[in-house]
This record gives sequence, structure tokens and C-alpha cells, in this order.
Amino acid sequence: MISSLRKTRIIATLGPVSETPERLREMMQAGVNIFRLNMSHANHDSVRNLVPTIRGIAEELGLIIGILMDTQGPAVRTGDLPVKFELKVGDILEFTVRGAQSEEVYSVNVNYDGLIDDISVGDVMLVDNGVLHLKVLNKENNRIRCEVLTPGPLGSRRHINLPGVRVNLPPLTEKDIADVALGCELGVDFIALSFCREASDIHEMKRVIATHHGTARVIAKIEDQCAVKCIEEIIEATDAVMIARGDLGIECPMEELPIIQRRIMKKAIQLGRPVIVATHLLESMIENPVPTRAEITDVANAVFEQADAIMLSGETTVGKYPLECIRVMDRVARRIERSGYAPYAKQTELENDQEKTTRAGVSLANSLPHSGLIVFTSHGVMADYASQLRPQTAPVFAITAQAEVARRLILNWGTHPIVASKRKGMEQILSEVEEILLKNSLMEKGNSLVILSDLEEGEKNVDSIELRKI
Ligand code: PGA
Ligand code: MN
Repeated sequence: MISSLRKTRIIATLGPVSETPERLREMMQAGVNIFRLNMSHANHDSVRNLVPTIRGIAEELGLIIGILMDTQGPAVRTGDLPVKFELKVGDILEFTVRGAQSEEVYSVNVNYDGLIDDISVGDVMLVDNGVLHLKVLNKENNRIRCEVLTPGPLGSRRHINLPGVRVNLPPLTEKDIADVALGCELGVDFIALSFCREASDIHEMKRVIATHHGTARVIAKIEDQCAVKCIEEIIEATDAVMIARGDLGIECPMEELPIIQRRIMKKAIQLGRPVIVATHLLESMIENPVPTRAEITDVANAVFEQADAIMLSGETTVGKYPLECIRVMDRVARRIERSGYAPYAKQTELENDQEKTTRAGVSLANSLPHSGLIVFTSHGVMADYASQLRPQTAPVFAITAQAEVARRLILNWGTHPIVASKRKGMEQILSEVEEILLKNSLMEKGNSLVILSDLEEGEKNVDSIELRKI
């Protein structure tokens, strides 16, 4: 039976309710493939602690688990407040920059001096997840005077969204660069760039990672209109994309969100960049043990569209039911994967011979009942192609000598990385893999295996396809 292998990967963000070793272990056993460290909240000491803890538990359990460090990026935030403001419609609130003082009852400073230049009188500012709307009445002497349009509380360090405004902050702030340096030192597998706006932001992130001798793959978080405008060049430049619907849903008109999600999904699959659907998939489970019907359908839609990964945020950082959330995603994903799919991968553009060889292998696997694909891959490239082509039922077993390659392949749809020493030789590895597949009831005797390989033989890189029966 091949059906016990889930194709959609699950990413869980770590926070207060999920960072103990016992909980990490339970989450891995429940089906998490990648843990996300959110640098808007995590501090360096806890990250230094967590990374080796995760690696140790994964090793003990014999699982390949990836680690994703998510940077804060050029986000605009309000400063500290001694007490929460309870704002009413019509109240005046002043935002101050460059240390300016305000005479108003309600005022708060902002971390970004350029805010006063970036916004215009008449603009609507959205604060704290878009809940609080404020209209800019005027701006002078480093004070931005606003009228409250929607009532609500304002606490400390709230995020300010400026829909359609291009914030004049560098793609990576000083904090981000320090965080990336730490990520490289600890060898995290993925680094996400928040509020990525254009392809050059990705190049900059790659440059910073290279400076720190890191090998992390870059994930572009698409969360504002700038990124949506440059979406094609960003997807070309990046290693993977995240549809960050939390901010995207505020920065863009809400009715555009599903359209943008589908567009990114299609393009990413066609260009072979892993794509993550993030935020609010099971939001109500922060408080409740069961999801809403709409949430089940949202998860199902992402799986139907063949997203590489679906992500949990608040559900596993502060929620009451982190394990249940993973189980719900696992259960829904497995069922939907058997029910059909959107044919986005059909429009994949194949460029080189290796891609074409991989396609021949995937077609062969598609034509055989109960088949599996085994890809011997040094750097993971051929395994990337196999996943990009979205084989109909065959799981992709990606065999590599490097643990690092295996961990980054864990983000790929339908891929099950296996680390095997090069010294063993292909025949021995194959018989060991067959044994693992049989022992875990992942495949049965007589099933077909299509074996693809991009390994170097002597001086040359030889791409090959072979068909065998277990
Ligand atoms: P965040 O990004 O959780 O870091 O804000 C995800 C999103 O905006 O959806
Ligand atoms: Mn965000």
C-alpha cells in the first residue's frame, strides 16, 4: 500500500505551547515535516537551544525534519505603550517619528522614520492585523495625525500595514542580518524573507547567506502588492515561495486574495518552486478542538491545488490544540490527495535534458499501477524535477548521501528523502530501500519501481531510467 505516504508537507511554527522536547517529539510523530522559527518573536538564546534539540529528536525517531527560520523583514511597528488605548470612532491618534512629542491623549512612536514621507494625507493606515483603520488627516513636525475609523484596542508593538505603499526600508534590516547569521551558524535548512518585494531582495538574501557560509534555501514570502506586481521575477529568483495570507489579505483587497493565491500556486508549480500556503488554515483551532467547515475546505483546496506545504502559525504557537491541528491537516490532506487534483503541473516548461529524462520516468511510473519512483540524486536537482512533475500516485523516494540535501528535499511535494552513504553502491542501497518499503508496508512485492539517477560516473554525469519489480 502506497497510500500511507502523505504528499502534502506540514509546517508548524514553534512558540510557547510547542517548544518543549516532549511536545516537539509528539508533533514530529503526529506528522510535522518542518518546524518554523518566527524571528519576530524568538530570541537568539532560545533558537540556539531549539535547533540542536529538534535535530536530536528527529535523529532518534529516524525522521527527516527541516528547520525554517522566518525573518521579520521590513515591517513597520508601533512602539511600547504603558497601557492599552481603547480607541473609539472619531478619536484622534498621533504617530510620532524621530523622537517627536505629541500633545494628544493618544499617541505612539513608530520604529520607522520614513513612515512620515511614505504616507500621504487621505491614506488609510491599518494597524494590528488590519483590525484598526485610521485615516491620515495631516502630517507635520514628525507627527502623523490620524482619525480613528474603526474602534478597537491598541497595544504595544503592533504591526502597521500600508496597503499599496512601498515602504522605504532595506529588504533586510540590521536585525534580519543578525538573525540570518545565526541561522547560517546553526545550519537551518530554509530562511524566509518577509515582505519580499522584488527579485533583487532575494539576491540580497542569497548574498547575505553566502557571506555567512550558509546553505539555507530562500523562501520568498509574498505579502504585499509590490510582491504581487513582481511575482514572476520573484518566483524565478527564489528557491521557494510562501503565500503569506495574513499580511497579503490586508495589503490587497480581500476579494483579490483567492485569485492571487491561485496565480502564485500555478506559476510556482510550473516553474518548479515549492509553494507554501500559510496563515489561518485552522485559525479557529487556537481556541477549539475541531476546525470550522470552511477551514477544512480551505485546507482541502490547498491540497487539491497540490501545494507543497501547508503551514500552522498561531495554531501551534499559542493555541490550545497544537497536536490536534497537525492531525486534522494530516487527515484532510491524505483524503483529498486521493480525490483528484488541479492539473497545474501539466503546464510545466521543461528546459534541459535532465528534466526531460525525469519526465519520461514520471510518465512510466504513471502508466504502471502501484509504482514508486526512486531518485538517486547528489544535490537534489533530479528529485526536484520529479516532485515538480507531480507524479499521479507514485511516491518519490529521493536517495542522497547528504543529510543537508535530504532536509531541504523534505519541503518538496510527494518526496520522501532517504540518506544513504555513497560508499554502499546503488545495488546495496536499492535492496535496503526495498526492505524498508516492504517492512513499513509502503509497497508490496511485485510493485514496480522506476529508478532515476543523476549520479556522477567517473568524469561524467549520467542520467538514467530503469524499471524493476520489487
Ligand atoms: P507572519 O507571516 O506570520 O510572519 O506575519 C505570515 C503571513 O503574513 O501570513
Ligand atoms: Mn506576515
